[in-house]
Amino acid sequence: MNQQRLFNIYVYVVSVFGLASIIFAVANLDTSGLNTSTLILILGALLITSRLTLSLPRSNSHLSFSDTMIFFSFLFFSGELAILLAVLEISISCFFLKTKGVVFERNALVFNVFSVAMGTAGTLLVWRSLPFLGLTNDYLTTPNLITSLGILAFAQFAFISTLAAGYYSLKRAASFWKTWKIEGFSISMTQIAGAGLAGVAYKLISYSDLVTIGVSLLVLGIAYLNYRQLLRDINESIDQAEKAERDKTEIARAKAEEVEEHAKQLKLLLEKEEDISRDLRQSKQDLEYAAFHDNLTDLPNRAYLIERLNLLLQLGPEVAKRYYVLFLDLSRFKNINDSLGHTVGDEVLRVVALRLRRCLRDEDTIARLGGDEFAIILNDLSSLQEAKSYAYQIYDHLTQPYVIHGNKIFSDLFIGIAPFDYEQLKPEDILRDADIAMHSAKEENVSVAVFDKDVRSKYLEHIRLEGDLRYAIEREELALNYQPLISLKGGEIVGFEALLRWYHSELGFISPGVFIPISEDTGSVIPITKWVLAEACNQLQEWRERSEVFRDLTVSVNISGRHLADRSLVTDIEEALEISGLPATHLKLEITESTAMENAERSIETLNEVSNMGVKLSIDDFGTGYSSLSYLHRLPFDTLKIDRSFVLNVGENGEDSGILQTIVSLTKTLKKEVVAEGIETEKQLELLRDLGCEYGQGYLFSKPLPGDEIETLLYQKTSFLPFADQSSSSDSFEQPATEVPHRYA
Ligand code: C2E
Ligand code: MG
Ligand code: MG
Repeated sequence: MNQQRLFNIYVYVVSVFGLASIIFAVANLDTSGLNTSTLILILGALLITSRLTLSLPRSNSHLSFSDTMIFFSFLFFSGELAILLAVLEISISCFFLKTKGVVFERNALVFNVFSVAMGTAGTLLVWRSLPFLGLTNDYLTTPNLITSLGILAFAQFAFISTLAAGYYSLKRAASFWKTWKIEGFSISMTQIAGAGLAGVAYKLISYSDLVTIGVSLLVLGIAYLNYRQLLRDINESIDQAEKAERDKTEIARAKAEEVEEHAKQLKLLLEKEEDISRDLRQSKQDLEYAAFHDNLTDLPNRAYLIERLNLLLQLGPEVAKRYYVLFLDLSRFKNINDSLGHTVGDEVLRVVALRLRRCLRDEDTIARLGGDEFAIILNDLSSLQEAKSYAYQIYDHLTQPYVIHGNKIFSDLFIGIAPFDYEQLKPEDILRDADIAMHSAKEENVSVAVFDKDVRSKYLEHIRLEGDLRYAIEREELALNYQPLISLKGGEIVGFEALLRWYHSELGFISPGVFIPISEDTGSVIPITKWVLAEACNQLQEWRERSEVFRDLTVSVNISGRHLADRSLVTDIEEALEISGLPATHLKLEITESTAMENAERSIETLNEVSNMGVKLSIDDFGTGYSSLSYLHRLPFDTLKIDRSFVLNVGENGEDSGILQTIVSLTKTLKKEVVAEGIETEKQLELLRDLGCEYGQGYLFSKPLPGDEIETLLYQKTSFLPFADQSSSSDSFEQPATEVPHRYA
């Protein structure tokens, strides 16, 4: 059977029994002892007792006196009245509860009324059985009264609680026993309290007069109210204590939460710090890596290589002597960059790094020094021969064509090998030895060269000159010599070529053939030429101002290709002319043929600018370069200087004069002046005159001389031709003063 149906049957059965109990009570009610005032008194008392409740501290149960009048009725009147009072009392209680907002379920009210009627009827049955249990109706003896009331209270409790538990267990489909413990047991207090109060009332009414009853009731009322107040106070302080406890718990919980939050934050902070320090460690590692590696090829860099060499030096000569340092320089790499762009250039360098890694062992150190330079430390070799064979292997690998972005690129390279020289205490020196070896490979145009100590001293001297040259002007070590330029027709001086001299304070005279190329390499040729221009212009202007006879003299200054490519040349010339006051037409610039042709388009531009200023231009060492006739035509030069090698080759019998003849006739065709350099013999002079060469310069006339000696010469000589008439005070051709001889000359 289903639960709901069972429940409905239960309610129905209880209702039927309850109703039967009420009908029975009404039908059998003995009203003989009841007059109206007693009834009113009973109802009043019922009303009061049903409202008397004491809520027990720390308990859900209430001490209710609602059953007092029911039990009282059993003692004083009859069980039937008790049934009716019970029905009345439950109705009043439900009514009050409803007014307080308690909502009753559909059947609950009816069930309450009928179950109380049925329960009380059950109690009546027990009550009526008391005499059979040996209990008399004499309640005036206290034990009798207590036993009877106890049985009454227990019976009432048992019936009412059982009926209530039945109702709820069926309704909720829960265990009867559990439901009874929850719903039924708590009402036991109502029966106990009601029985207690009924007993007291019974005793009072039986033994006392009205005044005593009144006083007793008053005392009981006051006691009740006091007790109620006391209970309320207790409940309140318990509530307060509980609230304080709750607050404390709440505070503790909040604190715990706070601590937990704090711990969480701390954990986060620690994690963050851990992250930061990990990042820091990582970036430190990255920085360290970056400090010792090349970005482009990911190879170790110069700093790394130096560190490694340092380490090897510390291992001592026995270990170090088995190591070799290779210096690699890719030739024509600049061309790749210029013609195909830096992206292709970078790619070539990456491939070079890759090929080097492939053809060497893991223990060898490969480093990129910068640009197209690489260095390698070959580990633990038995001989120089082994190092050489590695070098040739590298050469073979790196000279294979590179195919990059569809371009097939060929690159050559030079390799210098330096054995680990233990006399060299600095790693930089070992690397420099390999660099020197690489340079000698370049000079000799071989793929691999081994370092040798002679080359090192030459190189070191070169380095020293390079450094010293920067300070040569301020140390006043530079001077100009002037070599006269002679008219081959009349023999008179027409001008000079200013030739630079370096008298090194420690090394003595150093030839321009040695230091000019160095100065061109380092760029110091530009400030030096600026000084030469100023010096030469000042000197010539000074001489021109001496006499009318010297007015037409010119001075030639040699200009290097490096300076020609620099914008400062024009301003340097302007400055020199302006400061000296020399007219532009008296200054001549000598530019070697190869320089002029090297970057002809740019040269034309600058030379035109200079030529427009009125400055004369001369092509020096003509015949040694490869002049393009079209450029020769376009260059704004006035003079061609035939290189001394052509003059030198003109022998006694006039051999090789054909070239000279061609050059001279070319200048005639181009309508330029022609100067022959290096005339040392009268034969050469004669031939050049015969060919129609207008001007000449050479030891036959004069060596380059310092300014003061030229000055004497200017005053003494009117003709420099050895066979011509000497019209000046000096009658004979004087041997020019010799220059300071020196190992650098
Ligand atoms: P260069 O411009 O061709 O100068 C002529 C060189 O021939 C000078 O050499 C001169 O002394 C030498 N010489 C003249 N006549 C004779 C001769 O009859 N026989 C022989 N054997 N030699 C003769 P120097 O002074 O040693 O100059 C060498 C080169 O140095 C010059 O050749 C020039 O290219 C360069 N040079 C000299 N001074 C300067 C300068 O101030 N600036 C630049 N850029 N280069 C300079
Ligand atoms: Mg010259
Ligand atoms: Mg020359």
